[in-house]
Amino acid sequence: MTQKEPITVAITGAAGNIAYSLIFRICSGELFGTDQPFNLNLIDIEPGMSILEGLVMELQDSNFHLINKTICTTDPFEGFRDADYAILLGAYPRNKNQTRKDLLGKNAPIFKIQGKALSLVAKRTVKVVVVGNPVNTNALMTTKFAENIPKENIIALTRLDMNRSISQLSRKLNKNVSNIKNVFTWGNHSASQFVDLSNGYLLEGSKKTPLTQLVEEEWIYGKFQKTNQMRGKEVLLKRGRSSAGSAANAIIDCLKSWIYGTENYVSMGVISDNNPYNVPENLIFSFPCTCKNGTWQIAKDLKPNDFCKKMIKKNVEELVEERRIAFELLKD
Ligand code: NAD
Repeated sequence: MTQKEPITVAITGAAGNIAYSLIFRICSGELFGTDQPFNLNLIDIEPGMSILEGLVMELQDSNFHLINKTICTTDPFEGFRDADYAILLGAYPRNKNQTRKDLLGKNAPIFKIQGKALSLVAKRTVKVVVVGNPVNTNALMTTKFAENIPKENIIALTRLDMNRSISQLSRKLNKNVSNIKNVFTWGNHSASQFVDLSNGYLLEGSKKTPLTQLVEEEWIYGKFQKTNQMRGKEVLLKRGRSSAGSAANAIIDCLKSWIYGTENYVSMGVISDNNPYNVPENLIFSFPCTCKNGTWQIAKDLKPNDFCKKMIKKNVEELVEERRIAFELLKD
């Protein structure tokens, strides 16, 4: 059997928390296949370089046969060279005294540079998953400055929000997570996000029971939403560190859906152009999507109820404001 050509996987924020979970799973072959070798381009800022050296030592000691070559760099123009996949974890972290505007101000220039670098040196077919927060607007900045990369190739991770909602439903119904289908989130990866289960169902054998028949309306619009919106904060409070293992898992789930296809709707933060739900163009918005042959499509045939429409509007307003602030800050 001939060996496959190596692909190139670039990861920013590679010295961070999520990367430490994600990279080992990728190296095991779980995402790209156990016969797919790859080059691993690890990108971080200067203080992360020693951590990256230690990480590379651990990767060497794990004897991963799929790794063809590894580089560690602070330069996105080197790190994104010929990338087939780019996972953008690196972002300026929010501290207690910072407003959302401050955070957007710190992150917009990072994603401007990374967008430019992707545009110049990555493959035109590169698939980019942006994870660093505020993720929707960071991904939008990346699409703006990655002029040579189709906007459809750059998405924001909202899969963790969907996964969290399925896990909540599974505990509520005492059913396995794999039996819960077509639950997804709309909008921003923020406390305004809204989980929509009006199309969701519980699959048992060939029987499909709508979730709206199994859980009370009061719970759906109350505790369920609140718990999902606050889940990240709760994990942070308990662990003293943000969700990293579940975020890494969501990145793998998201990329698997994108690359290998889906049977059900999944949440993806994608460019809003030509969507059928009156979301203005040029926003990165979490929509229910299906994937086939390496491309995603926004679900076309859904009929959001009045509450959902209200929440879509709220998320649009929030994201339009984020976009205004980020573009304003990048004007000069
Ligand atoms: P972390 O602080 O442990 O790691 C972030 C890494 O990014 C650090 O090593 C840092 O040095 C690096 N970095 C900062 N600026 C950089 C730049 N310009 N270029 C390259 N690297 C840079 O954070 P983490 O826990 O790994 O989380 C990463 C990001 O993901 C955070 O912004 C977090 O809020 C976000 N997040 C998003 C989701 C989601 O669902 N979208 C879920 C969890 C976390």
